[in-house]
Amino acid sequence: MIRIAIPGSAGRMGGMLIREIALAPDLVLVAATDRPDSPFIGYDAGELAQAGANGVIIVSEPDALFGLADVVIDFTTPKSSLYHAELAALYDTAIVVGTTGLTLDDESKIEATAKHNAIVYCANTSVGVTLLTQLVQDVATKLTDGWDIEILETHHHHKVDAPSGTALALGKAAAKGRGVSLHDVADMARKGQTGARKEGDIGFAVLRGGDVAGEHSVIFYGDSERIEISHRANDRVIFARGAIRAARFAAMAKSGFYDMTDVLKG
Ligand code: NAD
Repeated sequence: MIRIAIPGSAGRMGGMLIREIALAPDLVLVAATDRPDSPFIGYDAGELAQAGANGVIIVSEPDALFGLADVVIDFTTPKSSLYHAELAALYDTAIVVGTTGLTLDDESKIEATAKHNAIVYCANTSVGVTLLTQLVQDVATKLTDGWDIEILETHHHHKVDAPSGTALALGKAAAKGRGVSLHDVADMARKGQTGARKEGDIGFAVLRGGDVAGEHSVIFYGDSERIEISHRANDRVIFARGAIRAARFAAMAKSGFYDMTDVLKG
């Protein structure tokens, strides 16, 4: 049995993960936390997630995630994920971080904690998006001069960061394919007298509304033709299932910093 701990257990992804763990014969939930001012502290985590009571009570102390668990799966906030990654290193516990909205600096800090434990960090844990990212890098390598790259994403109205972590990861993949840094070519916002599009830029556009689980399109505009590569998530369960696949991988992996591409290979 792989013992799993879930911070953010009262959240949308936390609840979904707890339901998926309850269905998996090889996984057991051993600890659950949420933020100290959450109204759900003291609740049974399984009952709150509508997975059936499991006797795991939601607490607020982050250390509770570590002693018992083989893997922590963290979909919370950038600040708490960073802290949990530091604790995971201290306790030598594998961790999967799916939180988005981390700065490049935060990402480097998380990566630096992976000395004696395994860390899987991925802004999108769906298998489909992992393949999309690889495709985008490949196409961007081939479509260089005269091709403009634009990335369009849509998410539900609860989402707090933009562009999505996935859109940024797709932008990074496209930039990598062209041998440049996304930082140098990203065009994040257009308004007013923007001037003509700068050659080589990668543009981002963001829509927010309703309950959209996540839609991403990378569009390569050429002269008189266009290639669009898209992924649509119909249900957020794909992210939870991908994160659980990552947790199984992390439980067996050597210490190191991994992403979903490593998980799919492993
Ligand atoms: P949510 O707001 O529903 O849940 C977040 C939970 O974390 C809340 O219950 C909150 O109280 C809790 N939390 C905050 N601070 C905490 C702390 N210090 N300790 C413990 N718990 C704490 O959000 P969500 O929709 O579940 O998404 C969570 C994160 O996962 C977001 O960054 C989102 O963008 C990301 N996400 C990633 C993927 C992916 O594929 N990687 C998919 C969906 C969502």
